[in-house]
Parts: sequence; C-alpha cells; structure tokens
Amino acid sequence: MANFSDKKSRKARSISPTKRLLNEIVFWVMALLVSILFALMIGKVLPSIGRLISETIGMSAKRNGLFEVTGYCNCEECCGWTRDKDGKAVFNYGRLKGKPKIIGQTSSGTIAKRGTIAADPRVFKVGTRIYVPGYGNGVVEDIGGAIKGQHIDLWFPSHEEAKRWGKRYLKLNVLSD
Ligand SMILES: [Zn+2]
Repeated sequence: MANFSDKKSRKARSISPTKRLLNEIVFWVMALLVSILFALMIGKVLPSIGRLISETIGMSAKRNGLFEVTGYCNCEECCGWTRDKDGKAVFNYGRLKGKPKIIGQTSSGTIAKRGTIAADPRVFKVGTRIYVPGYGNGVVEDIGGAIKGQHIDLWFPSHEEAKRWGKRYLKLNVLSD
C-alpha cells in the first residue's frame, strides 16, 4: 500500500512539471490573445472617440460667431422646383431633379411652418432648436443647396416676408441639439 502510494506520488511529481509548463503556455497564449483583442478594441474605440470629440469641438466652434441668416418660402425660386409638362411640381436641380416635389415639405419630411430652419447638417443636425433674434424659436428641419457652413435659412409663409427679412448677420442662441 505504502509502496503503491509512493509510486503514485512519484508519478505525479514526474508529470507535474510538464503539466505546469503546459498550463503556463496555455496561460500565456490566452493572455496574448486577450491583449491582442484588447489592443484591437482600443484601436477601434479610441479613434472613434477622438473623432466624436473633434467633431463636437468643430461643431461648437462653427456655431459661435456670426451667421448669415436668410429667409425662404415654399415658392419655386426659394425651394428649387418647377412644374413639368403635366403641371406637376418636380425638383428643378440637384440629385432629385425631375423627381416629384411635395410643395412645402422639408428634406426631413415635415411640412415647413413658421419656425422651420434650413441649415448645414455638418453644423446643425436635424432637430436642433435655435433662438434667432428677430425671428424667434425655430427647429432645424431642412437643408438647402446654398445653405453651407455658417448660414441658416428661415422659413416664411410668403416670398414677400422672406424678402423683407433679407440677409442678416446674427449670433444664434442654440437651445438644444
Ligand atoms: Zn420664395
């Protein structure tokens, strides 16, 4: 009995260094794999965090200072549409040229009303609420071919009113994103 257990423990002692080595190899391979995975994750996550931060800083930098503020209405001239030979409203230029145009519908699908603002989506995302001195509260719901950078376009119910607004240079009060 004692002999047997001696044999067994001798056997266990003779195997365990190899096993230990194997365990260690498995451990280090796993550690290496986990670190590679982690590095890949960081490499993916960090640049996107960096991009988000620089975009946010860029956006807020673009929002400060004076904006060119113009006015528009639903008319052909302001919204770039025309009538086809059947009298139906179609886009007059841009990538939607010739496609049916719902008069008064913004690019985001809402119906333009007082308070509708067209802006450059790189400066103001759709849904941004802005207080515009002399106009009041508005929401960005539209874009425009000529509305780029520090320029916004305010909706008015008539071309006369849009013309009367003219072109002003104003500091905007961004209420929310
Ligand atoms: Zn107009």
